[in-house]
Amino acid sequence: MDLAQRVKSLTPSSTLAITAKAKELKAEGHDVIGLGAGEPDFNTPAHIIEAAKRSMDEGQTKYTPAGGIPDLKQAIIRKMDRDQGLSYGQDQVIVTTGAKHALFTLFQVLLNKDDEVIVPAPYWVSYPEQIKLAEGRPIIVETEEEQQFKLTPEKLKQSITEKTKAVIINSPSNPTGMMYSKEELQALGEVCIEHDLLIVSDEIYEKLIYTSEPHVSIAQLSDDLYEQTVVINGVSKSHSMTGWRIGYALGRRDIIKAMTNMASHSTSNPTSIAQYGALAAYEGSNEQVEEMRNAFKDRLNQLHGWLVDIPGVYCEKPKGAFYLFPNVKEASSSCGFDEVDGFVTALLDEEKVALVPGSGFGSPDNVRLSYATSLDQLEEASKRIKRFIEKHQ
Ligand code: PLP
Repeated sequence: MDLAQRVKSLTPSSTLAITAKAKELKAEGHDVIGLGAGEPDFNTPAHIIEAAKRSMDEGQTKYTPAGGIPDLKQAIIRKMDRDQGLSYGQDQVIVTTGAKHALFTLFQVLLNKDDEVIVPAPYWVSYPEQIKLAEGRPIIVETEEEQQFKLTPEKLKQSITEKTKAVIINSPSNPTGMMYSKEELQALGEVCIEHDLLIVSDEIYEKLIYTSEPHVSIAQLSDDLYEQTVVINGVSKSHSMTGWRIGYALGRRDIIKAMTNMASHSTSNPTSIAQYGALAAYEGSNEQVEEMRNAFKDRLNQLHGWLVDIPGVYCEKPKGAFYLFPNVKEASSSCGFDEVDGFVTALLDEEKVALVPGSGFGSPDNVRLSYATSLDQLEEASKRIKRFIEKHQ
């Protein structure tokens, strides 16, 4: 018996593959430094864990409404009002099993066969696969490293066809950490309005910004853009809650209603206990969120300094998320590797440092390093990378 066509072209997540290889080496007793992780290394704040425990004691262990408990929806609505000055109704919010499933469900309800979604590269690995699973076509648009990997209005315009339904904006970005300015979002937004494109605004790294610039959602910039945008967010990165699986989408009523119907037949609802945890995350103190942000900021400053000191490694300093995305083409070539993928594999084999090759993100000259690990580990990893390059040159 053959498997369905739709899974045959599915590529496994490159991030998870490298993490698995690093774990394997660790289990064999090697001193591996994993910089592949896409999750904060802090524990979930205690008041969130306490709230989840309490919810179990109080019997909140049953099915919930498919789109999430009203109290959590209300907390998300208050957050959007507080942080972005945006106003949403309960019927414009769906709570999902992580932001990943919000995106998955959105593409399922949005796309017909061969509908196109513009995905600026480098991109988060799941976007193209999720679009393909919905029978759509991801249209990968290359961006320039010199322009901090940002999509420009010109490039966006050139990529639009009669089949284009949506464009993905991810700011701050995984894997580059870059952030669009308000003016840049405004210019992209104008093209989207002109061509009636839905904007999928993935704002999952919104709380992890290391400059004084505030996070701007494209939905804030005009009434038209508010109508035309589906905001995707969640507590995974902001509150170190990756395993809890709580995300959400906000947008047009018809879209959210369709997503909720779809969820009622797929997940039924996000885990009840996790929803109470997420409620505490949004209603409780922000102190630990800020502490985590400060720790990440410190690591970014140090790691960036160490990396750009290595010959043949070039890296713009990112403004957000917890990744660096240096161009290592020169270093890799000078070590005799035709492709950066080979460089990454040899680095893991010889120096036991796990990075993620940029090829999985649509940018084969780069590598992604996550700084969701201790400063000591980051310093040691930088030394090993330098030693590896010097040894091979
Ligand atoms: N969007 C981006 C850009 C991400 O990097 C991730 C997680 O790595 C997600 C969405 C999914 O987050 P969640 O854990 O809430 O599913």
